[in-house]
Amino acid sequence: MTKSSSRLIGFHVICESSKAAEALIGEIPSLAKRGVNLLIVEVDYNFEYVSHPELRGEDPIPAATIKRIVGLCRTHGIRLVPEFQSLGHQSWDEKTYPLLAKYPNLDESPGKYVGNKGKDPWGTDFYCRSWCPLHPDLNPIIFALYDELIDVFEADALHVGMDEVFIIGDADCPRCAGKPTAELVNDAHDHIVKKRGKEMMMWADRLIDGEAMGYGLWEASKNGTYPAVDMIPKDIIMCDWHYERRYEKQGTKKATFPSVRFFVDKGFRVLPTSFRDVKVVKMFIDQSLAVPSDKMLGHLCTIWHGLEPGRAARLPQLKAASKKIRKASGRS
Ligand SMILES: [Zn+2]
Repeated sequence: MTKSSSRLIGFHVICESSKAAEALIGEIPSLAKRGVNLLIVEVDYNFEYVSHPELRGEDPIPAATIKRIVGLCRTHGIRLVPEFQSLGHQSWDEKTYPLLAKYPNLDESPGKYVGNKGKDPWGTDFYCRSWCPLHPDLNPIIFALYDELIDVFEADALHVGMDEVFIIGDADCPRCAGKPTAELVNDAHDHIVKKRGKEMMMWADRLIDGEAMGYGLWEASKNGTYPAVDMIPKDIIMCDWHYERRYEKQGTKKATFPSVRFFVDKGFRVLPTSFRDVKVVKMFIDQSLAVPSDKMLGHLCTIWHGLEPGRAARLPQLKAASKKIRKASGRS
């Protein structure tokens, strides 16, 4: 087993309002005390964007609030990375998020899935809208938002999301139908890494062959996107998440997570990512630590609801992850 004092104990939080950002501020000192040294803050449209004010969410986070987060993270030695959910997740239930609400021409499936309902091409219930990655008007808008987040967070990396994409290469899209699906990742990489000199992180699920590895259709790809793993740059950090309910039902003996080694063998750095059940989290970490490579960066804990005051650092799964990663890294 490789020992590294720099292994990451990450915490991912979703910040959909200025109120949520204020709540996060209160948690940062105790998260640092718990050992967290990477904080990923998913902001999406919920910032006071200047380049595209029409795309601000309903209660956007002011830059001054972000600067307080930046200052606190710096004081406590936490690497702070903003996230902008890209490609998929452009709607939730009946609500379509600002980009496709304001610019419906950028939708991958404009006019389809009325009311965000119906069956997607893979036979599952419609989940979320996607933007069209090949629309010529898209990248100038999105990259302006990326730039604002990188700048206000004074970040050395950006997480671009890209998980759970079910509407992709729509048969009716004049640009995307029948095209390979790697271009959008490479476009984002060109901007974030080559132009801005930052690191790029993304959710890894669309790059995993779900059938071959025995994963489910959310945490891995069963819609043909996985060959893109061989068409994208190897310096992207893969946040490899697994938190489907079946692991809890199966019990820890049967759950295996072969994608950590898969990404390392491909040459990527990988950040295994968990949620909920503590037993599953512990087993996922044990299997990750058994991958003998510094490319296995540590562990990322996620929560997908608002922070309750004083509770974040006491989440059982974060306590368990911190203990295991600290021990493996030789940290006290
Ligand atoms: Zn398209």
